[in-house]
Amino acid sequence: MHPTPAEGAESDLNARTQAERLLELSLWLASAATLADVSDATMQAAKRAFPDTAGAIIARRSANEKELEIFAVSDLPGQIFENWQRFSLHEDAPLAEVVRTGDVIALNSPTDWETRYPHLLPLLSETGHRAQLVCPLVAGGMIIGSLGIAFTTDRTFTADEAQLAVALSSQCAVALERARLYENERKAREAAETANQSKSDFMARLSHELRTPLNAIGGYADLIEIGIHGPVTAEQRAVLQRIQTSQKHIQGLISSVLEFSRIEAGATQYHLLPVNLEDTISVCETLTSPQIQEKHLHYVRNSSDLSIEVYADAEKLRQILVNLLTNAIKYTDPNGRISLTVERDPENVRVMVADTGHGIEATNLDLIFQPFVRLHSSTGVVDGVGLGLPISRSLARGMRGDITAESKPGTGSTFTLILPCTPSATT
Ligand code: ADP
Repeated sequence: MHPTPAEGAESDLNARTQAERLLELSLWLASAATLADVSDATMQAAKRAFPDTAGAIIARRSANEKELEIFAVSDLPGQIFENWQRFSLHEDAPLAEVVRTGDVIALNSPTDWETRYPHLLPLLSETGHRAQLVCPLVAGGMIIGSLGIAFTTDRTFTADEAQLAVALSSQCAVALERARLYENERKAREAAETANQSKSDFMARLSHELRTPLNAIGGYADLIEIGIHGPVTAEQRAVLQRIQTSQKHIQGLISSVLEFSRIEAGATQYHLLPVNLEDTISVCETLTSPQIQEKHLHYVRNSSDLSIEVYADAEKLRQILVNLLTNAIKYTDPNGRISLTVERDPENVRVMVADTGHGIEATNLDLIFQPFVRLHSSTGVVDGVGLGLPISRSLARGMRGDITAESKPGTGSTFTLILPCTPSATT
C-alpha cells in the first residue's frame, strides 16, 4: 500500500528528524573521551531521541563476562538499584536477556511486563515506569552490555523508534569501548611512568651511595701514592695506579648511569642559546688531542666558515662532540684517520665525525643507540659501558636535533650530529 501524500510528507519529516538526531548523537559521542563522558552523552542523547523518556540505564558486562554491572543510571532513584548493581547474565530480566539474545526488547505497558517478567512488577511500580525499550550494546561484533530507556506512560513503540534506539545503542557501545581502551591505555602509561620514576629514583640513590666510598678509595690511594703514609715502592706505585684507573672507570660508569636516568626521567634542563661552533669544536679538539697523539691517529677538520652558530646548550653540545670524537679514537686502530666536517643549510648544521676504524654492521646501526649495548668486538677490549651514544642522542634530540650513523665494516664509520641553527628551525 502506498502512503497518501500527507503520510509521505510526514514520514519524510520523521526520517529527517531522526537523521538529525542521529547526527547530533554521533557528534556528542565522538567528543566523549572518558567513560563518564560517554554515559552522560548517551543519557542526554536518549532524552533528545525520546523527549518523553523518564530515565535510562546502561549495564556493562563484568570483567569475568558472567555478570552485568549497572554502569550509569539517569533520573532513576538510586536506592532502587542497590540490589541490582551487579547481577547474573542468566537473570530473568530484560537488561540481561538482550545481552544473551542480541535482540531488542520492547515492553509497551505493564501488561507486557506481566506476561514476560511478572517477578519484576514490584520493581516496575517502585520506579513508576510502565514502558521500556531495551537494546544490546554491540561493539566490534561483541555484545558488551545493554541500554534501557524507560517511560512512565504506556507506549506503542514503532519500528522507527526501535531503529533509533538501536542506532543510539550502537553508537554508545562503540564510544564506550573506545573510552575503555583509552582508559586502559592511560592506566598502563601511568603505571609505566611510575615504574620508570621508581627505577630512576633507585639509580640516583644507588649512584649517590656508591660515589661517597668511591671518592674515599681514590683519595686514600692518592695519599699513599704521594708518600703520606711512608715510602712507596715501584711495585706498590704500579698497583696504586691500577686502583686509581679502576676507581676512575667506576666513577665514569656511575656518572653515565646517573645522567642517563636523569635524561630518562625527563629531568634534564636545556639552556638553548646561539653557540659558536668553531669555539666549541676547538675545546673538544684540545680535550681529545692527547688520545689522538697516543694512538698516532691522523686528525683533520674540514670547516671553512668560522662564524657558524648553532642553537644549542653549549655544555651538552661539547659533551656530544667529545663522545663522538672519543668513540672514533677508541674504535680506530693506530695510524688510522679521523675527520670532523661541518656543513650547514638554511635551517640546520651537520657535524660529521668520520673514522677509518672497524666499522659497524648495518643491522647494528640502530642497536648501538640502545643503552648498555656494546658490540661484541668492543667488549672487554675497549673501555666503555655502552651509554655514550644513547646519552648523546637523547641530548641531541632534547635540543631539537638528532644523531645518525653510517658505516661500512672494515672501512669506517661516520656519526652525524644535526642541530638547528635558529630557535624556530626543526630537523
Ligand atoms: P661505549 O663506547 O662506552 O661502549 P657508546 O654508547 O658510545 O658506548 O657506543 C656503543 C657501541 O657502539 C660501542 O661499544 C661500539 O661497539 C659501537 N661504536 C660506537 N662508536 C663507534 C665507532 N666510531 N666505530 C665503531 N663502533 C662504534
